[in-house]
Order: sequence, then structure tokens, then C-alpha cells
Amino acid sequence: MSKVAVIGGGPAGMFAAIAAAENGHQVILLEKNEKLGKKLYITGKGRCNITNSSDMEVLFSSVMTNAKFLYSAFYTYDNQRVIDFFEKAGLQVKNERGNRIFPVSDHSSDVIAALNRVLREKRVEVRLHAEVDHILYEAYEPETEEEKISKKVAKNIVRGVLLKNGEQIFAVNVILATGGFSYKATGSTGDGYRFAEEMGHKITELRPSLVPFNTKEEYVKEMQGLALKNVTVRIFKEKKLLYDEFGEMLFTHFGVSGPLILTASAVIPSKFIKEPLRMEIDLKPALSEEQLDKRVLKDFEEAKNKQFKNSIGKLFPTKMIPIILELSSIDPDKKVNEITKEERLQFVRLIKAIPMTLNGLRDFNEAIITKGGIKVSEVNPSTMESKITKNLYICGEVLDLDALTGGFNLQIAWSTGYLAGTSIQ
Ligand code: FAD
Repeated sequence: MSKVAVIGGGPAGMFAAIAAAENGHQVILLEKNEKLGKKLYITGKGRCNITNSSDMEVLFSSVMTNAKFLYSAFYTYDNQRVIDFFEKAGLQVKNERGNRIFPVSDHSSDVIAALNRVLREKRVEVRLHAEVDHILYEAYEPETEEEKISKKVAKNIVRGVLLKNGEQIFAVNVILATGGFSYKATGSTGDGYRFAEEMGHKITELRPSLVPFNTKEEYVKEMQGLALKNVTVRIFKEKKLLYDEFGEMLFTHFGVSGPLILTASAVIPSKFIKEPLRMEIDLKPALSEEQLDKRVLKDFEEAKNKQFKNSIGKLFPTKMIPIILELSSIDPDKKVNEITKEERLQFVRLIKAIPMTLNGLRDFNEAIITKGGIKVSEVNPSTMESKITKNLYICGEVLDLDALTGGFNLQIAWSTGYLAGTSIQ
């Protein structure tokens, strides 16, 4: 039995603490907030999408960065084990659209309560208001002959942590689970990057992900709150198609959001993401231009004596009509029976490709996840132990790992947290 200090009481830290305690270690879980799991509380719009019950292939393909690194973690503690864990802890779960797993109660607080119960049961000492200021470590002197000749031996060894209040907590092993950089009010202020960097770890470029975009066009404000379902969004860098997906999106006071847009922010390579990108919204993706033209022609037939502006109500949501009139090359007051074929075809092309300019991402405080983090090549994927600092284990979002929405990010936290905790000798 050895003493283990876990830094960060989010999902990764709580799971790491539970796993280490199960292995008979004396565990202290240090959380700077007044309670555990503040970010977990706001997940899934307060309902907490705990994991995703799809098969392994889907789990891996939903990880956007360093999926291969997660091989051991996902196979050691997969989505079914997460579901079993919570059911055993007294939390009933349900399967929703897209294999998303939620608590039956629809309350993330019940997920946190279940975790608290297990932490108590495993006798983990939970210290709240315990902000870690530094990890205590010293130079590691190779012990065995093998270590002495190996180039891969760690540079440092941990000794414990120093709290902001000056208290030192000595521990043989430290687990770093401080999370990413988004929604800072939940406690994820990026401290772990600083701790790791001090010891010689590299941090890859950090950027918000699963986050809305700003748009150049001011008129989005007029459509604020409007959700479009069953549309296709295409995003281009000049002529290069970067993203092409079908689903749901939303207009906001600054730009665009909703599932399609959040996914785009995770999928589009970072090298393009800050530059202006051209976006097209196809409002009728199920129809070809020819089919849509027939439909428009029919609507125009029925309204042939009306003005153009009064003839398109069936085609668009009300909030969108003034914008469509602005973007269309047809005079809004023109009688429908005076619209030329060329004008009509241009109108059809507009419906299939409403133009917009994406002007960069919103910031970390609106991002579900941080892309980038502690470089995973410096961490052993079979144990989550740092290759630079002996007895330091790293798990969760602080690592350079991120996934799409659907419960996959929490699965990363549970799996890497468990693997870190269970790997401690
Ligand atoms: P965190 O949850 O960020 O926990 C880190 C903890 O460390 C925090 O409690 C923090 O206070 C503590 N800490 C930090 N520094 C210190 C320090 N110096 N000393 C002591 N403690 C410290 N994912 C899903 O899979 N499903 C969802 O439904 C979902 N919804 C989301 C909704 C929102 C709005 C957001 C922002 C994220 C959502 N996510 C979701 C992502 C998910 O919440 C994160 O991936 C996950 O919380 C990461 O877990 P973690 O334990 O690594 O980090």
C-alpha cells in the first residue's frame, strides 16, 4: 500500500481515486472547488451524457486526436464497464438516440452523488478547497543497472504536492487530473499544463473545440434563436471542401452554433480554423436542384399574382424570410409571374447554398472541450505514467485527447482515470 495524491476532482480524478483505492492504496483526492465534479454537473445540459454504448469502432472513430493512444485505456475500461459501474453504484441509466447514455432521472447531480457514494465506500479522503500550487518532485537517480544504461529512464520522481495554503502533502504517487482550459468557472483553469511543463513535459497547441463560430455577416443576429433541422452544412477554405455534414444548426447573436457547427469546430484542422472560411447551408439537401426547381415552380404557380416577398412563406422559417429576400437577386416587390427563369434558377441555387463567412471560433469559455494538451508521446499508454517523471500519472482532458459530442469525452475521462489509478503498484 502506498499513498496516492490525486489532483482534480472531476470525472478522471474521481475514477482514478476509486481505482487506486480499490487496489488498496491510501488515496487523497484534492479539489480546489467547494464540491466535486463542477463541470460534470453542467454536462449534457445538466443531464450528463455519461458515455456512449456504440461499439469500439465508433468509440475510436469519435476520438479526434490521438485515438491510438487510448487503445489500452478503452479496452481496460470500456463503455459497458462504465455503465455497470454506475448501475452497481445505484444509478439507473437509459440509452437515447445515437446510443447516448444518460441517467434515467435526467439529473447530472445523481451521477455525482453516485461517485461520492463510491468514494466514501472506498475510503478515499476527499479534500475540498484544496488548491494545488505545485507538484513536489526531485531529480531521479537511476536505481537498477538497466535504468543506468537506459536512455528512456525518467528525469524526475514525484514526492507529493504543495497546496496554495502552504501545506505540503507527501505522497509516493501523484495523479494529475486537472482537466482542460474551458468553462474556467468550473475550475478547469489549465493548472495541470503548468505543472507538467515545469517538469519537462511539452504542451501541444491549445484551442477551443466543440465551440460555436463567429460569422462576418451581421444579419445572423436577426435569426438569433432559429434552429434549422435536416440541413447540410458545407465549409470550404477557398475551393477546398473541409466539412460536409447533415443535421441541425442554430443561429446566435454572434454567429452559428448547434450540433453541426460544434462538430465542424472539432473536425476542421487547426491550421485553417482561425482563417475566414466560406460556409454554405443547403436548406433542402434531400432535393436535387432540378427537384427543388419543380417545387419552387409549383409554389410560384400557386402565387403567381402575389409579390415575390409574399410568395415564399412555405419554403422558409419566418425569421429567415427577410434575409433570403436580401440575398436573392429578385426584387421583393416583383410579381411572381414576372420572375424570369434565370432569376428562379438563381433562387434555387441560393436555397441550396446560403452563403456565410466563418470568422473564427468563440473562446474557451464557450467550448465544451480543449483541443491540445500534454503531449501523449511522453506518457505510457498502458499505464498513464509520465515517461519524464516517475510515479506521476496523467489522465483526462489535460492530455492531448479530444472527441466528438455523444458521451465520448467522458468515456476518455473514465477510461484514462481508471487506468491511471489501477496501474499504481
Ligand atoms: P474536469 O472535469 O475539468 O475536472 C478537473 C478538476 O480539477 C476540476 O474539478 C478542477 O476544479 C480541478 N482542478 C484544476 N486545477 C486544480 C488545482 N490546481 N488544484 C486542485 N484541483 C484542481 N462530455 C461528455 O462526454 N458528455 C457530455 O454530456 C458533456 N457535456 C459537456 C457540457 C459542457 C458545457 C462542457 C463544458 C463539457 C462537456 N463535456 C461532456 C466534456 C466533459 O465535461 C469533460 O471532457 C470532462 O469533464 C473532463 O474531465 P476531467 O476530469 O479530465 O476534467
